[in-house]
Amino acid sequence: MPTVVIAGAGLVGALNACFFAKKGWNVQIYEFRRDIRTMKHVQGRSINLALSQRGKSALEAVGLKDYIVDQGVAIRQPYGQPGEHIVSINRRHLNEVMITQAEKCENVKFFFEHKVKSVDYENKKLIVQNISQPSRIPTFGQKQTHQDHQEFEIEADLIIACDGAYSAVRRSLMTLPRFNFSQEYIEHGYVELNILAKNDEFALEENVFHLWPRGHFTLIALANKDKTFTVTIFAPFDEFEKHMATPQDVLQFFQENFPDAYELLGEQHISETFKRVKPQPLVSVKCSPHAFFDNLVLMGDAAHAMVPFYGQGMNCGFEDCLVFSEILDKIGDIGESIREYSRVRVKDAHTINDLAMYNYEELKDLVNHSSYKLRKKFDLFLNSIFPKSWIPLYSMVTFSRIPYSEVVERRKSQDKIILSILHEGFTQLYSTIQKMADKLNMSLDDIIRLKKKTEVKRENGGGNRGGNRKQFPIKKGAGARKIIVGGRG
Ligand code: FAD
Repeated sequence: MPTVVIAGAGLVGALNACFFAKKGWNVQIYEFRRDIRTMKHVQGRSINLALSQRGKSALEAVGLKDYIVDQGVAIRQPYGQPGEHIVSINRRHLNEVMITQAEKCENVKFFFEHKVKSVDYENKKLIVQNISQPSRIPTFGQKQTHQDHQEFEIEADLIIACDGAYSAVRRSLMTLPRFNFSQEYIEHGYVELNILAKNDEFALEENVFHLWPRGHFTLIALANKDKTFTVTIFAPFDEFEKHMATPQDVLQFFQENFPDAYELLGEQHISETFKRVKPQPLVSVKCSPHAFFDNLVLMGDAAHAMVPFYGQGMNCGFEDCLVFSEILDKIGDIGESIREYSRVRVKDAHTINDLAMYNYEELKDLVNHSSYKLRKKFDLFLNSIFPKSWIPLYSMVTFSRIPYSEVVERRKSQDKIILSILHEGFTQLYSTIQKMADKLNMSLDDIIRLKKKTEVKRENGGGNRGGNRKQFPIKKGAGARKIIVGGRG
């Protein structure tokens, strides 16, 4: 059986291990961290994640879907169709379950506390360093020996880099000709907090996505199985620095902007959290190709880290594993399979990366716009009439396995149809007015002049509608909206 070496035992690396374990390959996974199953606290990104269709399909292929879904909380959305929901799951638990599942196969071996340093692409090998602590405690001033931190090379039929957004493997490929890479940090960072259970019950409604949009900063909350909520504040680093720099500032900020959440989070928890953790940056990474030589492929965040505003980072990474497994089963040859994988997957990865960035803009403020809500309702209306052919963008991304690039093509066709409906509407309106004008023995210009005169009268207080219309600012401190705007990630 061939050997696959996987860099990183995070979400995507661990799932890949399950896929190859199932195929009966020899699997070696090198992970920088200690075994998270033995750790008290695991440092890292978001505590919980929104699992949707693409992720579920990949978990189903390795027999884990029902178990994982059962461990989560179903989150429904008002714009959704019956039966459509995402599942809020605990990152650590999910990661642990996949490691344990993969390890059940005796041909799978995890090497924790092993850092992948680089890839030696001339010899098609991975360079790994053992960073485990030596069993003896070095006495003061004593250097650790080379043997404690040995570097060694690994050869494999296939190498899969799943070592995350700051991938060491990807970094060592940067000097290759025709390797495209781009990276963007957005101006927002995030801090995670917790709402505890209240009298052993959820303190907020559990099956909805809670969102407090406040223009350029936003608070969201997602329920956990243990009746707590993970609450995340997304704000520009400027805002953190100016308004959340001291414990008093943070409390005032939360009290003024999110009074209901402030009560549930509690003063002490907010100040302790902000003392303990710094706002974390959010990065978006695109690269191409995703496959190199005859045996190396990038997957998950190593290939396409994205901002977490479409709830798709992990889902897309999980779908990577499924897409690659399907291609490998079909083609057989490793070199051809990785090239085909890169051919189909790069454009999809770029597309969801862009969609996530677009949703970042939406989440900031667009949800408050009536045109945004109108479009959502219009989409759902058309979907109820043509359920197979008119699927809203969010549903195609979240509740289908339509390739991301096709999702965007379909959306463009929908936009064209809407524009032509609007055009048709205007044409009809125009001909109705023309008929009216004919009946009144007036020209269209006469009608337009008459309309303008009426408007001037109203603006001068002559009318009782329109003249006093005001723009209402977002009410500070208003409660959360129970909506989903693409979830997270
Ligand atoms: P990672 O999870 O980062 O795992 C990489 C692994 O590689 C880690 O275990 C790391 O220790 C290891 N590693 C790193 N470097 C080395 C090295 N040199 N040698 C060996 N091992 C190494 N996605 C969703 O689908 N839904 C969501 O709701 C969602 N919410 C999110 C919220 C936030 C705030 C953020 C930041 C992200 C969110 N995401 C979400 C995205 C999701 O977290 C990532 O897409 C996902 O974790 C990618 O998995 P990965 O295995 O590729 O990378």
